[in-house]
Amino acid sequence: MKEIAVLGATGSIGRQTLQVVEEHPSLFSISVLAGHRNANLLRKQALKFRPKAVFITAPETYRELAPELKQAGMAVFSDWQDLQEALSTVDLVLGAISGAAGIHPTLLALEMGKTVALANKETLVAAGDLVADALQRYGGRIIPVDSEHSAIFQCLEANGKPARILLTASGGPFRHWPRERLAEVGPEDALSHPTWHMGRKITIDSATLMNKGLEVIEAVRLFGLPADAVQVLVHEESVVHSMVQWTDGTIMAQLGTADMRLPIQYALSWPDRLVNSFPTLDLAKIGTLHFAEPRWADFPALKLAYRAIEQGGIMPAVLNAANEVAVAQFLDKKLGFLAIADVAAETMAAFKADAVESLAHLSEVDQAARAKAQELCRQAGDRL
Ligand code: NDP
Ligand code: MG
Repeated sequence: MKEIAVLGATGSIGRQTLQVVEEHPSLFSISVLAGHRNANLLRKQALKFRPKAVFITAPETYRELAPELKQAGMAVFSDWQDLQEALSTVDLVLGAISGAAGIHPTLLALEMGKTVALANKETLVAAGDLVADALQRYGGRIIPVDSEHSAIFQCLEANGKPARILLTASGGPFRHWPRERLAEVGPEDALSHPTWHMGRKITIDSATLMNKGLEVIEAVRLFGLPADAVQVLVHEESVVHSMVQWTDGTIMAQLGTADMRLPIQYALSWPDRLVNSFPTLDLAKIGTLHFAEPRWADFPALKLAYRAIEQGGIMPAVLNAANEVAVAQFLDKKLGFLAIADVAAETMAAFKADAVESLAHLSEVDQAARAKAQELCRQAGDRL
């Protein structure tokens, strides 16, 4: 029985992780659940899965749930420090907190030498150097959950280091929209993704192609290839989740339904594969698969991510922080769609790519980049 901690249990990935666990009750059990603001769902999950410990980061949620869950026999904590103790007995930590809030707990688990099934790409983007350091020092391991990186991970098990990675992108809801229409996009348009149903932040990132940019950085961090060996290919059907190309030019692809439960399940069961009741791929029904170059000029966020990883140091963290601020402002209707990438670009231009010294240094950079991005959003907002 693998004992699992789910961080971000109430989110899209967290909920699907619990579905995978339910699918295999004799193989996996939940020992830790962590949630933030969704008290109702966290209560339901805790009473159903009966973990030993429940972590609640938002104070109001903690106050609401702690008495009841303690009464039901669970340990309930609100401080990330207490997480260490609760994680000491788990076999695998699933990291599905959204955004930079996932950095601290992910590093904590890696510093304990844990195996982390990681969905939270922002940790790899912003704190990739610290993650690499922790992996080397404490002997933990990351199993990617992000579907593209899970695909590459699955391909790689065939053979060592590829010459290139072909990272597929659905292209988001606006892949065919002309540039003039992109200027008019509002949150409602951007929140309807054609192939994946995900949390709000990543859905907006998919629409700007920032998600694909973050995934390029994520791939560099996970698989140790230079950024120019990672090629983004638009593939509308989201059937090929990514590919690796070997030195002889041969390409290997991983295909599946657009269902996050598959990469989650693989990250939980690796190196084994498990039978399940999820729908399978019907290639005859799909018939045709399309591949195309991304529209670089219309979706500038993608280029920014390449620039950030090429500059290295703190730059990916600056990009990530600025993007989180700009996306939140866009969702609040205080910033236009095309301005998201502008804010990220201008924030990056205000920083030098210094080396990341420590987690404390990274938090300072994160704060400073957020402040700069806020200021730029206010200026852009005045122009709206
Ligand atoms: P959601 O927004 O659906 O869920 C986010 C989770 O994180 C929730 O459980 C939320 O708790 C918790 N959370 C949010 N803020 C904080 C905080 N400050 N401190 C502690 N916990 C917090 O996101 P997704 O599940 O869509 O995405 C999670 C991660 O997985 C992201 O990094 C995303 O990029 C990545 N990912 C997601 C995919 C998807 O299909 N959804 C695909 C590939 C990667 P609460 O709801 O209780 O407030
Ligand atoms: Mg992905």
